[in-house]
Amino acid sequence: MLAADPFLLLILSSPSGAGKTTLTRKLQERFPALRFSVSHTTRKPRANEINGRDYHFVTREEFELLVERDAFVEWAEVHGNCYGTSRAEIDRARAEPDCSGMIFDIDYQGARQIRAKQHDAVAVFILPPSMLELERRLRGRASESEEVVQRRFKAAMIEIEHYGFFDYLVVNDDLDTAFRHLEGVVLAERSRRFRRADLAERLLRAGKL
Ligand code: 5GP
Repeated sequence: MLAADPFLLLILSSPSGAGKTTLTRKLQERFPALRFSVSHTTRKPRANEINGRDYHFVTREEFELLVERDAFVEWAEVHGNCYGTSRAEIDRARAEPDCSGMIFDIDYQGARQIRAKQHDAVAVFILPPSMLELERRLRGRASESEEVVQRRFKAAMIEIEHYGFFDYLVVNDDLDTAFRHLEGVVLAERSRRFRRADLAERLLRAGKL
């Protein structure tokens, strides 16, 4: 029988335009047992987004009610909208027998809050190779207006200023290379001693019988 993979909380942050969404999707295909944490947000859905799959879209009033009820593990205001990770989302994933962890696509404020509660959460920051390339990618997004692009470009600087908080910095110049690095993080983190110590102890106990 194969030993189960240890449970991993993987936080992915980046300025918008660094390719995080694509990398997250690829990571889920590679590691289907890692569940994507679907956040709540007060932002309006984009054309291709589906409620319950990409986000739980709620009104500001509904969001505030959830904050009051302490329903979020973390929440933050990002680009003028509220985003939060519900406790229920994590509890649901933990209860699934074939789930070996979660991927959180959240900003640095949320990353900090999750880590304050879950010290073994792994935080990865995805960097664009240059600011010029970041701007080019932000402009390539047809769904955003010029004002939004400018706002997010400035926000990217603030986001990058917090790189020191993260365990890993993955540069997304070439998508496949960035993905290999990310895959390497997951594989290495699964082999961390504290995540495998249970198994080692079980082996020792079994050997003594
Ligand atoms: P977008 O509106 O482009 O989907 O996301 C904007 C930013 O909000 C991204 O940096 C994304 O990582 C962040 N974000 C998404 N969900 C959450 C969440 O639940 N909590 C926090 N703190 N940030 C989030």
